[in-house]
Amino acid sequence: MNDQHLAVRGASKRFGTASVLDDLSLAVARGEFVSLLGPSGCGKTTLLRCIAGLLRLDAGSIAVAGRDISALPAHRRNVGVVFQNYALFPHLTVAQNIGFGLRAQGVPAAAAAPRIAEALALVRMAEFADRPVTALSGGQQQRVAVARALVVRPTLLLLDEPFSALDRKLRETMQVELKHLLREVGITAIFVTHDQEEALVVSDRIAVMNAGRIEQLADPATLYQRPASLYVLDFVGQSMRLGGTVSAAGLGEVTVETRLGTVRAPGAFAPGSRVVVAVRPEAVTLTETPPGGRNTLAARVSEVSFLGSRTQLHLDLPAGEDRGVVELPRLPPGIGPGSAVPLAFPIADTMVFPAA
Ligand code: ATP
Repeated sequence: MNDQHLAVRGASKRFGTASVLDDLSLAVARGEFVSLLGPSGCGKTTLLRCIAGLLRLDAGSIAVAGRDISALPAHRRNVGVVFQNYALFPHLTVAQNIGFGLRAQGVPAAAAAPRIAEALALVRMAEFADRPVTALSGGQQQRVAVARALVVRPTLLLLDEPFSALDRKLRETMQVELKHLLREVGITAIFVTHDQEEALVVSDRIAVMNAGRIEQLADPATLYQRPASLYVLDFVGQSMRLGGTVSAAGLGEVTVETRLGTVRAPGAFAPGSRVVVAVRPEAVTLTETPPGGRNTLAARVSEVSFLGSRTQLHLDLPAGEDRGVVELPRLPPGIGPGSAVPLAFPIADTMVFPAA
C-alpha cells in the first residue's frame, strides 16, 4: 500500500519460553484504521504494547512515518493510547484529564486551553469540562479517553478493546462514532478487539491473528467473502462447512463428495484430496429446483434461532469438521427442528480449503 505510515517488520516477542509474537510483519497506510482481531492470548495486546513502547521487541523493528522508533522510550514515540479501562485520573476533572498530556509536554496553560476545548468539542463533551470523570457514564469516559489521547496530536492512535466495558447498544453507537471521528481527524489507528462484528464495523482493514502471527490482512468484505484459511473462515462470521474428498478437478473447479451430497466449487485440488467446502449462511436458500450454477444438498434442521431481522437454521450434522448454519430473511411455514430441507447455493460463492 502507498504512503505507508506504520511498518512492523519481523516482530518477535517471548515471555519466558512462550513465543507470543512470531516474526510478525504489518504495514498500515497513513489515515488507515486497522483492527487486530483474534482469540484471547493470540498476541494482540502484546503487539499494541510493543508499538506503544511499553514493551520491547526481542527481534524486528517498528517504524512510524519512515523513522525507526524501536529504541525510543514510550514517551518519545508520540503514540496515543486508549486503554481498555480508559485509565483516567479519578481525582481530576474531564478537562484536567484531557490536558494532562499537554502539561507533561510542557505546553503552557494559555496554549493548552484552546487545544483542550477543541478536543472536548471533537468528542462532543464540551459541557462536561469541569465534571469529575468519576461522575461520567462509561460511554462518556470512553470519549474523554479518546480526547486525551488525541489532544497531544499523536502520529498514531492505539486503542485496546476500548468498548469492552460498555453495554451492547452503547458499544454499537460508539463504534460508528469512533470510526467517524477518526476519519474526520485523519489519524492512523490500530484497534485491538476479539469481537469480530466490532472489527467488521470499525475497520478499513482487519488483521486476523493466530498464535503471534497475522493469518490474513484484508478489508472486511474480502475477509468475509474470501477468507484465506479455515481459521479465518471460522473466526469471522458463520458458515456451513462440510468435509469431503475431491472426486474430480479441472477448469478451475473441483467436485467434492460430502456427507450431504456432491458440491462444486471454484478451486484447484487434486482428485483424492481431503478438503472442506464452505458457504456463508446468507448465500443459502431453501429451493428444490434452483436456477443453474448452484449446488443443491439435502439436509435436516436440528434447531431454529429467531434473530429478529433473520432466522438461523442449525443443520443436523455429526460433530467434527462439519458445521451447518443457514440464514434466511424469514422462516418458511412448517419448518422446525427435524424438518428435511433442500439447500441451494451458488457454485461461485462456494469456498474450498485444504482439510485441517
Ligand atoms: P486478550 O484478548 O485476552 O487480551 P491478547 O491476544 O491481547 O489476548 P496478549 O495479552 O498479547 O493476548 O497475550 C499473549 C500471551 O502472552 C498470553 O498467553 C499471555 O498470558 C502472555 N503474556 C502477556 N503478557 C505477559 C507478561 N508480561 N509476562 C508473561 N506472559 C505474558
